[in-house]
Amino acid sequence: MIAPELHPPVRLLMGPGPSDTHPRVLQALAKGTVGHLDPFYLETMNGLQDMLRQVFRTQNPMTMAISGTGSAGMEATVVNLIEPGDAMVVCVNGVFGGRMVDVAERAGAKVTKVEKPWGHVFTPEDLAPALASKPKVVGIVMAETSTGAHQPIEAISKAVHEAGALLLVDAVTALGGVPLEVDAWNIDAIYSGTQKCLSCPPGLSPVSFSPRAMEVVMSRKTKVQSWYLDVSMLANYWGQNRVYHHTGPINMTYGLYEALRLILEEGLENCFARHKKNHEALRAGLAAIGIRYSTQEGHILPQLNAVHIPEGVDDAKVRSTLLTRFGIEIGAGLGAFKGKVWRIGLMGYGSRQANVLLFLSALEQVLAEQDYLFQHGSSVAAANDTYV
Ligand SMILES: *Cc1c(COP(=O)(O)O)cnc(C)c1O
Repeated sequence: MIAPELHPPVRLLMGPGPSDTHPRVLQALAKGTVGHLDPFYLETMNGLQDMLRQVFRTQNPMTMAISGTGSAGMEATVVNLIEPGDAMVVCVNGVFGGRMVDVAERAGAKVTKVEKPWGHVFTPEDLAPALASKPKVVGIVMAETSTGAHQPIEAISKAVHEAGALLLVDAVTALGGVPLEVDAWNIDAIYSGTQKCLSCPPGLSPVSFSPRAMEVVMSRKTKVQSWYLDVSMLANYWGQNRVYHHTGPINMTYGLYEALRLILEEGLENCFARHKKNHEALRAGLAAIGIRYSTQEGHILPQLNAVHIPEGVDDAKVRSTLLTRFGIEIGAGLGAFKGKVWRIGLMGYGSRQANVLLFLSALEQVLAEQDYLFQHGSSVAAANDTYV
């Protein structure tokens, strides 16, 4: 039996990722596959690295895309910097900090967890006791997709470097959605993913290692535990030597290449301003119907809006009706936020005025059917007012 031809439903992906793919990225993905050592592909890799450096705001030579999703980038940065027995501090205020602890422990790190309540961010003072023990690496999530918290990096970076440690940053949801300065903030290792704010399907993980981090990698006493993610070997493929390591995911590279062209065409500042504007419209709309954010005030991500589910409203029913009747996907709460929070993404190509207004009118309809009391039309009106 032959399985049926694929006809994916048309969706608006307004959850925690994947987010909507830009049509130009879809077209790029469909271009002809070449060999992974074809001169054309090597040029494409160069262009991709050059654009990644611009978007990461770095001069780091070791900037490339790991074959795999964001978690592969997490694993790549951790396993290259950590040798068994090394001390690592991981900041945990949501799901992804928790995942980093697991990855680091599997790599043999002695992990010290620093915790904050979900939805809150870390200050340098929060890290001080853990830094006193002189860890080798400190890991932190800049955009915690499970809670919508926007972690400031600069002050943390200063404290981490004063303690002589390397700073490792998870920028999976941050990159392309909020300002991020790898060099100016002195970040030693960073990873992202294609399917959050880069308007691309999942499949690649942009990473960058500072020269200081590369020195640490190159002077390891033990081999990197992962053959696939060993950056010293990957450097031979992405660098001057072009030695075959594994077959590059050719068409995904085309997709990310086009996605980066889109961001640079728009301009980074304009791109961040668009994310902020659409977030403010959504926020005004939600406030008008009594829906509040669950993230610490002043640290709310524009691209991931985590909000309290109103009392008496059926979480699963709202999400399934949005999906089946309106084709809109939003995210459920994870972990401690399960059943309590909705996560509304306005990421990359998905951060558009039309999406905000369509989502709010659909939400009003679904909430009205559940006898939630609010003034009909008020959320769309409030959002509209922010655009004039
Ligand atoms: C999505 C996400 C990841 C994991 O990325 P995958 O692409 O799902 O592997 C890691 N960290 C953060 C903050 C994320 O949002």
